[in-house]
Parts: sequence; structure tokens; C-alpha cells
Amino acid sequence: MSKKLIIANWKLNPTTLKDAQKLAGSISLKAKNKVVLCPPTIYLSQIDYPNLGAQDCFWADKGSHTGQTSPAQLKDLGIKYCIVGHSEKREVGDTDEMVNAKVRACLAQKIIPVLCVGFGTTVEQDDLEVTDVLRAQLNINLKGVDPSKVVVAYEPVWAISKGNPYQTRAADADHAEKMAIFIKTKFKAGKVIYGASVNVNNAKGFLSQPNIDGLLTGGVSLMAKDFNTIINL
Ligand code: PEP
Repeated sequence: MSKKLIIANWKLNPTTLKDAQKLAGSISLKAKNKVVLCPPTIYLSQIDYPNLGAQDCFWADKGSHTGQTSPAQLKDLGIKYCIVGHSEKREVGDTDEMVNAKVRACLAQKIIPVLCVGFGTTVEQDDLEVTDVLRAQLNINLKGVDPSKVVVAYEPVWAISKGNPYQTRAADADHAEKMAIFIKTKFKAGKVIYGASVNVNNAKGFLSQPNIDGLLTGGVSLMAKDFNTIINL
């Protein structure tokens, strides 16, 4: 199997820099797959790992924008990836247009955007209904953007865990594969990865799909032993 991209979204964890450094230090540097760690922004400059990503950014590079972090600042720290459009950001107000502005701002700084789509999907929807949701999002999120430079993460929002991916249900791997094919054929995304309730037991099923280029992991990325297993599949 060729190298896949495994992204760790630590969200608002851990609570101390010491624990963040300890967690990063326990992640294999010689994994079979390419690994990107996305710790909280406040720790980014103090985590030593080859590939780091941010969990979000603002669209302007400087100015009167209290509390924001710009792609230019991320670039200055050597950050290579940035998650944008995560459902937990969309939930608190990020619109499709704002997500588009963030994607563009990342690309202007040569930071690879990891564009999350799947907000608004439900477990009851069939494949066609899900593609309608994704199409509406991607039409705006990728406006004016070279999609080949973007990693699109298909994250069915209903499947995202609240921290423990062993207590929730992931989407089926064949459904995720169909969505990856849709995103690649209709939107020409450079890579498509799957995220939501990935764990040691289901990761291989997603990674074996030819059109799924990797995983966006949340809860399991905080479990060093399990995460090390997944990055070496
Ligand atoms: C996420 O929210 O991006 C995610 C993948 O979370 P989890 O793996 O915990 O469902």
C-alpha cells in the first residue's frame, strides 16, 4: 500500500504544554504513512515534530483582528498544513464563504488547506443526498481555488466522536470511498481523506480504499498507542 496521509486533530487537548510535548514525543517518527500533528495553536511553536498543522486560521495576514492567527504567522513558524471548515468551527459561525477565504489565504502562503466538508449531513441520508450537501459546500469553499492543492477531508458530522471513537459509529468505508470518488471526479481535489470515529479497528478499512488518501483523526490521535498503530498500517 502506498503512503497515506494521517492527520491528528488534537482539538482543545491536552491542557498543558508539558503533556502536549509528551504526546508528540510518543508519536513514531518512522511511521509507514505520512503524519501531520495539529496541536492547539498555542503549542505550535513548542512542539517538535516533522509535519505540523494548525486547526484553523483567519483569512487576513495582519491587522485589527483580535484573537486571530494568520496564515502568514503559521508560515513563519514552519507550519505546513491548516485545517479549515471543521464542523466544530462551522457550528459556531464559520460560513462557506469564510471557509473559502481561509482556503485562499492558506494557499497564498503555500500552506496546504485541509478542507473539512460534511457538516449538515445526517446518518439517514443516502449517497445522493450526501453528495448534494458536499456539492453545495465545495462549490463555495473551492471558489477561485486550484483544487489540486487542497486536501479535502470528508467528515460526516453525525459520525464525529466527542472524544472516544470507540463509543461512536464511523461511516461505512464503501460510503466514504464513494464520496471520495465524487469529490475527486467533480471537484478535482488533490487528496481526499476520511475523518470521524476512526479507531484501530476500522482504520484499515478506510485506508484500503483506493480513492481514500488518508485519515483525519480526532479522539484516537490522543491515544498514543492506538495512533502509532494506525500510522503504521
Ligand atoms: C474530527 O473531529 O475531526 C474527528 C476526526 O474526530 P473523531 O475522530 O474523534 O471522531
